[in-house]
Amino acid sequence: MTEDTHTDTLRTPIVAVLGHVDHGKTSLLDEIRGSAVSEAEAGAITQHIGATDIPLDTISRMAGELVIPDDFDLPGLLFIDTPGHHSFSTLRARGGALADIAVLVVDVNDGFQPQTEEAIDILRRTGTPFVVAANKIDTTPGWNPQEGEPIQRSMEAQSERAMSMLNENLYEIIGQLSDAGFSADLYWRVQDFQKNIGVVPVSAITAEGVPDLLAVLMGLSQRFMKEEMAIDVNGPGEGTVLEVKDERGFGATVDTVVYDGVIENGDEIVVGGQEEPIVTEVRALLQPRPLAEIRTEKQFEKVASVGAAAGVKIAAPDLDDAMAGAPVRVVRDKPLDDAIAEVKAELAEIEVDTAEDGVVVKADTLGSLEAMANALREAEVPIMRAEVGDVAPRDIAITETANQEEHKALLAFNVDILPNAETELESADVKLFTNDVIYQLIEDYETYVEERQRAQQ
Ligand code: GDP
Repeated sequence: MTEDTHTDTLRTPIVAVLGHVDHGKTSLLDEIRGSAVSEAEAGAITQHIGATDIPLDTISRMAGELVIPDDFDLPGLLFIDTPGHHSFSTLRARGGALADIAVLVVDVNDGFQPQTEEAIDILRRTGTPFVVAANKIDTTPGWNPQEGEPIQRSMEAQSERAMSMLNENLYEIIGQLSDAGFSADLYWRVQDFQKNIGVVPVSAITAEGVPDLLAVLMGLSQRFMKEEMAIDVNGPGEGTVLEVKDERGFGATVDTVVYDGVIENGDEIVVGGQEEPIVTEVRALLQPRPLAEIRTEKQFEKVASVGAAAGVKIAAPDLDDAMAGAPVRVVRDKPLDDAIAEVKAELAEIEVDTAEDGVVVKADTLGSLEAMANALREAEVPIMRAEVGDVAPRDIAITETANQEEHKALLAFNVDILPNAETELESADVKLFTNDVIYQLIEDYETYVEERQRAQQ
């Protein structure tokens, strides 16, 4: 760390959970959140918009007999609530990954699946340290549940037969990680996180192994993240849009993860938009109300400021065109032009190479648009136009202008088809592909192209 940053404070590491559908991401997050709430001193767990903040002392209690060393000085862990690698790839910060560390959830019986591979590719590309949660160990035949126990203790209570089945599955996952280029080991033998990926057997249902997972996550962040965690707590806020949502009484708002500095009510901000960066002023910073109050009163409460790392809903005029995955910058003491230039530069990194003739791509976020563009480049499919947003009539019209028949295709990832676009589609010479799994979307398109070619022969 350089001299002039010595006043910086360590912020909470940002953790994302990813993995194949149904492997237990949501359950694991629920389990961590739920047990955090029951372990915490009243009010210590803060539910943010899009994230849950668990302080270090609560994590220490959750880890139980697994001691988190006293010299750990990171304030806790901020878990992003939207699980899935597709949301993970949205989570960018200054060109890298927004999440500092990740949990890759793998169903211990099911092993690696296509979305596990996709997730691994993203983790590799972004250089994000991760731990593998080998989930659903309680479904091992003959398993004798040891609710909430550290994994070694839980394993000691199992029959030889159950243990040998579990071990077989775990070593299969370790083999698959090795095929993917990562040297991995069961967590308790991991001495050096730089070389080894820890594989922690867990159950999101019985919470066995969850204490270990938290201990490994703290260890990972403490070892890797110190310098990147150092922030100027009073500096102008920097964040990433998770989602753009209309809220009653506020209009378009952006759910944002703040990873540096502070955002204050009334701040001038620059937000990445569909056409141009949006310059606006924060009208309200909103957090969820405590659960008990939600039913009776308004859903949100206003806060005066939020400091990194945190999730917050920003209400401000003119946010309709904001994009999920786009940067948010507080202007404050730097010139407005600099902030606009920063936002533009970040968006430029995601720009997609387009060809004169090619398919049209629509995706829900910048991150998924980028992932689609990468996957299509690998499949050697040219792109004529790529945009964030739902499928609108204009997209159909553009798709129809493609020269080659097989390029008159619209690939829509995780977005809605607007009703008037549906009508348009009925009469248009355009083939629409929709899916919320990238590789399937592209596979469907490739199959279509192959069938066309075969029919023509
Ligand atoms: P996601 O799609 O990855 O978020 O997966 P979910 O969390 O929705 O889990 C998919 C299904 O697996 C649900 O029916 C869960 O109850 C179940 N499940 C998740 N984790 C576990 C586990 O550790 N043990 C058992 N027995 N079931 C689990």
